[in-house]
Amino acid sequence: MRALPSTVIAFALTATIVAPASAQRGTAPAASADSTPDPIKIAVSRLDLEKYKATIKGLTQFGDRRQGTKRNRDAVDWIEAQLKSYGCTNTERITYDYQPTPRDTTGRGRVGRAGGGRGGRGGAPRTGPGSAQGGGTPRGIRARTGVNNDSLAQPDARIRALDSEPTTPGERQEVYCTKVGTTHPDEMYIVGGHMDGIGWGEAANDDGSGTAVVMELARVFSSPDVQTERSIRFILWNNEETGTNGSRAYVAQRQALQGKEEPAGSGKYPEPKWLGMIQHDMMMFDHGMPHADGTLSKEQRPEADVNIEFQVTSKFAADAQKLAWALATANDRYATDYPASVGQHMTNTDSGPFQDVAPAISVRENDRGTQIGNGWDPNWHQPTDLYSTYSDNDFRLGMNAAQTTLGGIAKLAGLTLKK
Ligand SMILES: [Zn+2]
Repeated sequence: MRALPSTVIAFALTATIVAPASAQRGTAPAASADSTPDPIKIAVSRLDLEKYKATIKGLTQFGDRRQGTKRNRDAVDWIEAQLKSYGCTNTERITYDYQPTPRDTTGRGRVGRAGGGRGGRGGAPRTGPGSAQGGGTPRGIRARTGVNNDSLAQPDARIRALDSEPTTPGERQEVYCTKVGTTHPDEMYIVGGHMDGIGWGEAANDDGSGTAVVMELARVFSSPDVQTERSIRFILWNNEETGTNGSRAYVAQRQALQGKEEPAGSGKYPEPKWLGMIQHDMMMFDHGMPHADGTLSKEQRPEADVNIEFQVTSKFAADAQKLAWALATANDRYATDYPASVGQHMTNTDSGPFQDVAPAISVRENDRGTQIGNGWDPNWHQPTDLYSTYSDNDFRLGMNAAQTTLGGIAKLAGLTLKK
């Protein structure tokens, strides 16, 4: 998307002319020409498309996992058991109380204006510079978006029954586990995704796909031969769909605990300092802009990409931007199929509550404000967000996001492999 500055091109040409013959043939420079394999590459190679798909499939056994239901609590239990089985055994839970705002009192979360089907968000879409959520400018053809609240819009009786229990206000929990750093256990990166969903489907993409990225990274980083200098926390937020209440509860409860050794002299840090928060939310579907009739291409577009966003108006914009570029650089090196692009309009996800407290970014299938918000994902909060909706080319985009974050965080946290 960005053209190379002409000075860089000129330098590259000059360098080719004066470089020794070995460099002209593209062989690696001497400094990295030893036979030691890149440990990060080895760790990334332990990600696997079939395992990623199986984790998403496992999450969909709990339907849409709507917050405040038994199917949501069962999913939290299942995720915790999976994390332990990967070797991420120090699982803990955040407990908080959720009382819905009046607009949620139907027990069905956010209410779409048009009732069932793909309701609009009210009135004509906003237009003009900076008018998209997050501050971007909407471009091109736009399709309607909204939340399905109609059980009968789900044609599959099994899934309709699975999603039928309404939400009840009250206590909520969300689970996390932590890879403890060897030399800097008092600092950590947070790798997150939200495990709750809505829309009378299976929330396979929103956000089974991001939850599975977090779980697969927990699996790889928990391998017995993997160590990192800094800590990494893997967390599956609840209540994202009601307004990021789960991540807000985490920030409220734990922000002041950062970097404190507890008990003193123990070398243990229950809440390491937040070096960065990386959220994964809707990872699989990048079929391009809607057509003029509002429909979408059936296939993943060949030029699909992983979208990494920071929020340019946030207090930590400069450091969040650095974090975004670190992941984009890791994508160049480690992702097998799809590139990454960086945008400055992060919005509407669990990285939001962190953005003025720590460097925070989101990783997605598309930009949230100008693309998803413009109707680029027809399954968003719809009964069609089912495991069976997606092809391997879709699942592979989520896998590439996992490769991107794993590669980036492995470098930042200082991954090495024990012999
Ligand atoms: Zn989501």
